[in-house]
Amino acid sequence: MGMQSSLPLPSWKTVLTQIIFYFILEDFVFYWGHRVLHTKWLYKHVHSVHHEYATPFGLTSEYAHPAEILFLGFATILGPALTGPHLMTLWLWMVVRVLETVEAHCGYHFPWSFSNFLPIYGGADFHDYHHRLLYTKSGNYASTFVYMDWIFGTDKGYRKLKALKSGHMEDSGKEM
Ligand SMILES: [Zn+2]
Ligand SMILES: [Zn+2]
Repeated sequence: MGMQSSLPLPSWKTVLTQIIFYFILEDFVFYWGHRVLHTKWLYKHVHSVHHEYATPFGLTSEYAHPAEILFLGFATILGPALTGPHLMTLWLWMVVRVLETVEAHCGYHFPWSFSNFLPIYGGADFHDYHHRLLYTKSGNYASTFVYMDWIFGTDKGYRKLKALKSGHMEDSGKEM
C-alpha cells in the first residue's frame, strides 16, 4: 500500500489533510454500509448485537458482531489503503476514529461537545437517536457527520424531534 515507517515524519499539513480525507471517506462508506446492516436479514443476524444497547455508553461503540467489525472496518481502512500514509498517520487516524465513536456512544452531550462548535459533526445526541429507535424506523446512519443523512433524508425523524423539543423549551420559557 506504499506505507512508510521511516524518518522523517510527515509534515502536520500532510497528516491533517490525510486524516480529514479519511473522515470524509469513512463517513460516506460507513453510511451506506450501515444502511445495508439495517435491512431485515442483516439486522437480525448481525447488526442487532450492536443495538442491544438502546442507551449506549462509550464501550458499547466497539460492541458488535465480528462480521460487522470486518464489514464496517473496511470503511476505516479504505482511506489509508488508497493513500499509503506514514505509519504514525495510520495510528493517529485509528486513535481519533476510535475516540470519535466512543464520544458518539458516550450518551452525554456536554457544553464542550465537538458538535457545539462544528455543526456538521454528529456526536452523542445524533447517534443516541439512532440507538433509541426500532431498526425499520431508524435514521442517523452516518458515523461522524450529519450531512449524509440530511442529503438522503434519513434524519427527518431526528430533525422533527429536535424542532419539537426546542419549541417545547421555548413554550416552557414563556410560561416562566
Ligand atoms: Zn445501526
Ligand atoms: Zn452505535
